Amino acid sequence: LLSVRHVRKAFGDHVVLRDVSLEVRPGECVVLIGASGSGKSTLLRCVNLLETVDDGVIELAGEDITDPRVNADSVRSRMGMVFQSYNLFPHLSVVDNITLAQRKVHRRPAAEATEAAHAMLSRVGLADKAKARPDDLSGGQQQRVAIARAMVSSPSLLLLDEVTSALDPTLVGEVLDLLVQLREEGMTMILNTHEMGFAKAVADEVDFLCDGEIAESGPAAAVLDDPQDERTQRFLSRIL
Ligand code: ATP
Ligand code: MG
Repeated sequence: LLSVRHVRKAFGDHVVLRDVSLEVRPGECVVLIGASGSGKSTLLRCVNLLETVDDGVIELAGEDITDPRVNADSVRSRMGMVFQSYNLFPHLSVVDNITLAQRKVHRRPAAEATEAAHAMLSRVGLADKAKARPDDLSGGQQQRVAIARAMVSSPSLLLLDEVTSALDPTLVGEVLDLLVQLREEGMTMILNTHEMGFAKAVADEVDFLCDGEIAESGPAAAVLDDPQDERTQRFLSRIL
């Protein structure tokens, strides 16, 4: 579904991604791990066209989305992105947070957008919170609303950037459970995290980003429990 090949991205003379390649197959959950500053968020932002790549190719369903002639908005509408800090609008109800872009950007009729929002809220276990304000919800519930908002446009790919790192540890589980559920429903995801237990629970594949490249990649158990690359071993020994 997604093919990242030899991507390079620098900010000025700071080369963040030197040569990154990865493949995400339909229904697969790929987890990016790596030290702070290794470029995990930058890679997700390149995939979502929030950053332009300096070199290399990113293909979504066979289409080269790094081609400058590509319509970035239409590419982004096929992806959902969720951030660490939820980015919900505090003055809007939960259901309005979910329908806003549907109505304004995707020009979906209000009734249809509202119906889709309620259906998505049920899926994330928050059917009874439609009228609540974000501030009245726990962090975990707010993040589930943000995930519902990203999912409501039926994206083919979900990008999740540190979606649990702002949460109280007791609330991480409910977001993890939701992502496991979405994966079981066949959603294709790339996410990055600093929590290895989380990575192991949800990942089909773990990719370790280091020195601007994927230093090691493979099934979660292999990379996390029996890393082969010396850099992965050093990284994991520092955090586990
Ligand atoms: P963390 O785990 O802390 O979130 P990360 O792996 O997500 O880190 P990035 O946020 O991708 O790392 O940042 C990688 C490097 O790129 C950092 O050194 C950062 O300072 C730099 N960087 C990111 N965005 C920009 C930007 N817009 N302009 C300049 N430098 C940037
Ligand atoms: Mg980051």
